[in-house]
Amino acid sequence: MDTIVALATPIGRSGIGVIRLSGPDSLRIARSLVRDDAFAPEPRTAHLKHIYDESGSQVIDRSLVTYFQAPHSFTGDDVVEISCHGSPILLRLVLDVCLHRGARMADAGEFSLRSLANGRIDLTEAEAIRDLIDAQTTAAARQAARQMRGEFSHQLQPIKDDLVGVIVVLESALEFVEDDLPEIQIQNVRSKLDAIVHEIAKIAATFRAGNLIREGIRVAIVGRPNVGKSSLFNTLLGSDRAIVTEIAGTTRDQIHEKFTIENIPISLIDTAGLRDTNDTVEKIGVERSRRTMADVDLVIAMVDVSEKRSDDDLQILRSVEASPHLVVLNKIDKVTPAVFRRFADELRDEISSGAAAHISVSAKTGAGIESLRKAIVEPFSPNESNESGFLVSDARHYDLLVRSRDEILSSIELLQEKSSEEIVLVGLHNALRFLGEITGETTTEDVLARIFSTFCIGK
Ligand code: GDP
Repeated sequence: MDTIVALATPIGRSGIGVIRLSGPDSLRIARSLVRDDAFAPEPRTAHLKHIYDESGSQVIDRSLVTYFQAPHSFTGDDVVEISCHGSPILLRLVLDVCLHRGARMADAGEFSLRSLANGRIDLTEAEAIRDLIDAQTTAAARQAARQMRGEFSHQLQPIKDDLVGVIVVLESALEFVEDDLPEIQIQNVRSKLDAIVHEIAKIAATFRAGNLIREGIRVAIVGRPNVGKSSLFNTLLGSDRAIVTEIAGTTRDQIHEKFTIENIPISLIDTAGLRDTNDTVEKIGVERSRRTMADVDLVIAMVDVSEKRSDDDLQILRSVEASPHLVVLNKIDKVTPAVFRRFADELRDEISSGAAAHISVSAKTGAGIESLRKAIVEPFSPNESNESGFLVSDARHYDLLVRSRDEILSSIELLQEKSSEEIVLVGLHNALRFLGEITGETTTEDVLARIFSTFCIGK
């Protein structure tokens, strides 16, 4: 087996940078790095050592070297971690020495893949490590940490055990029972399968909330130029990310930013002003805005209450009616309450639906922004979670749960139609395989390769 090496910390200057070796030659390579053939470090104990360059004549760093003896390491192989000073040049030198001494650069996710191959973790736990590292919010990190501790696998195990139980009953009926299964046993099998479907569906139902915590809501702000889209964008973000100007049509490209409301990640898109235009560059932006509107989870349609309503406003409001949207009336600080009321009433008359539910704000003073923030997440607020609060957040897991459930449902139907056990069993075996793919027991090589390619090097 190869010994692999990678930088386990990000590239760039930092206090420390950790180089990780995994494989049978790890300790030998570490000995040559510290120029001490007798170096026999006590496992799981940090040793302060001089690190030598390629020639073995120059000390290039003084580092903490930790040896993890197989199988008590992250990967299950012999592992050595060298905590050098975080200098990119130095780390490159140390990596090069490791490569010259016979290690090879690790592929993306290869440390985790080895850990999986050695039975140290299952697939959901490996994926959780990736998700924890990639987490955008504390809620997402918390969910990943739970999955990393094996919570998902633990929830699946009794379901798989029950399914195996049913399969065993049907298999043995196939082997030993001359006639069809007695009705009472069929009903027994059926109620067990119903219970399994119920359990799977319960876990699968947490995906909406889990996915939301992970992927968040994509929100676009649309409206004709100068209604205050960029200002709102900045107010929501609490920074000056977008360029705010008084010249119409400056936000030609779309600006994306991420922030969170009540722990839900929001991906906010400030679109180019929506209006008919002759400016080519601006035209491209406008075209893109229309496409974006079809692509987001929520559109904020913005109108300026301090200006006379234009046909453009009405057109925009009508164009968002079909998709989930919020109508935001901006610049309330510029008008009197009476003027504002008249504006809102007239708008309501002109737009039959939708505009009735509006939120009034001032992107400038911040008035109404808190209500807007609440309104953005309100329709998405997670309400489904199972008793334990664990959420399925990975689309791969969700897909396999649904496929497994569907297989069992069609087996139940076949069972009711008094099909032979053989035919009923096909779906149940498929269902079991799909559940096994979640934890990696029955996952094929190419699927594994695809999953681990989404990891970064050094994980
Ligand atoms: P966009 O073209 O829709 O992105 O509009 P901007 O955000 O660039 O705003 C256009 C102008 O309106 C700027 O001068 C802003 O300062 C101003 N503005 C935006 N929102 C408000 C508001 O709520 N009240 C007031 N008084 N001015 C605003």
